[in-house]
Amino acid sequence: LTPLQQYDPEIFDLIEKEKHRQWRGLELIASENFTSQAVMEANASCLTNKYSEGLPHHRYYGGNDVVDQVEEICQKRALAAFRLDPAVWGVNVQPYSGSTANFAALTALLKPHDRLMGLDLPSGGHLTHGYQTAKKKVSASAIYFESMPYQLDPATSLIDYNRLEDHAKLFRPNLLICGGSAYPRDWEYARLRSIADQHGAYVMCDMAHISGLVAAQEMKDPFEFCDVVTTTTHKTLRGPRAGLIFFRKSPPPQANGSPAATPAQPYDLEARVNAAVFPACQGGPHNNTIAAIAVALKQAATPEFRTYAVNVRKNAAKLADTLKELGYKIVTDGTCNHTVLWDLRPNGLTGSKIEKLCDYLDITLNKNSVQGDTSALSPGGVRLGSSALTSRGFLEADFVKVGHFLDRAVKIALKLQDKVGKKLVDFEAELAKKDNAEITQLRHE
Ligand code: PLP
Repeated sequence: LTPLQQYDPEIFDLIEKEKHRQWRGLELIASENFTSQAVMEANASCLTNKYSEGLPHHRYYGGNDVVDQVEEICQKRALAAFRLDPAVWGVNVQPYSGSTANFAALTALLKPHDRLMGLDLPSGGHLTHGYQTAKKKVSASAIYFESMPYQLDPATSLIDYNRLEDHAKLFRPNLLICGGSAYPRDWEYARLRSIADQHGAYVMCDMAHISGLVAAQEMKDPFEFCDVVTTTTHKTLRGPRAGLIFFRKSPPPQANGSPAATPAQPYDLEARVNAAVFPACQGGPHNNTIAAIAVALKQAATPEFRTYAVNVRKNAAKLADTLKELGYKIVTDGTCNHTVLWDLRPNGLTGSKIEKLCDYLDITLNKNSVQGDTSALSPGGVRLGSSALTSRGFLEADFVKVGHFLDRAVKIALKLQDKVGKKLVDFEAELAKKDNAEITQLRHE
């Protein structure tokens, strides 16, 4: 018996059940992945016992010789993974997660009540990019700063850069944020830089979803035109749950290739980002996680990882094509990253129903807003991602099968809806009976 099994069989059993759930099902959540055993070993190591507030060689605690080495290796590998010159870029590897990385970055770049513009949550942005509704400032990034989110073009579901530029003229942002959680296309970084430069604003990219693809050069490089780049480490990058903040040591060139505009305030992002992470937003770093990030970054530098990233994109494109061939509507008519946004409104279904039904089928995905949705609680779409199943070795032919499973799920959902009506509670009650032969059949396949 393992120590955990002996001491706490209840938690041991739950972890075993979750392991089983992760391996048995089809994992299609775009923000998730399967990290390696080596990453998990580092993450579960004795480094969790150590306090080390501060930066390598400048700590507030003794006994940090080893931890300093771990953190320095992690910093070096983070810069190398994205081909960054250490004379131009630095990195803080201590953020506990993506949200804390983003809040620390805002703390570094802005004063309270400064103005920021990020992609709206219902348009595919993230909460931490200034999310607010008409009634409520939901995210701390909207509570402590003034936020004016930008949106998609309703005709194309692509970012409306012209409208963003017009709104920026009125709002005069101090910061433009790009990057999102449910945006299946690449970003116009040069365009964002030129809009920001009109207002002396910073540009920050939150590449959380796509950082593995950026590392493998499968998507455009945000570093060229951004002042700060944040990321989580557990999505396409396939590491432990954590965040990174990359900062420039000197201002970026302008979008037209001219030398950098003179910034309004001293360009001391290194000092500001480091102070924002600790002591402004966090305490002691999670050294076990930092070691695990270092392992993941070593893996991200291998040819195998590059092949992985190529396959992530091919597989997502194949899934989108398969669903389109089956007659479904895919937002932006496809994808160029790992995410497929599937609009179920033309089929008369909500994303919530497909999410619930798929839980019974051991297919894990999440409901998601699509352009024009009126209810965030019951959105009309579903977000699918190829990163996790690609880690399990799925290739394009496998994703064709996944597309066909999803098609059968929709057909089952439509029959159930015909039987019980449109209310989600009734739909769920019907599922809870667990007596549907088609569901049982599909689950076994
Ligand atoms: N940024 C983006 C773009 C994300 O999609 C997410 C999470 O999904 C985050 C930040 C937040 O990361 P975390 O959940 O690690 O706080």
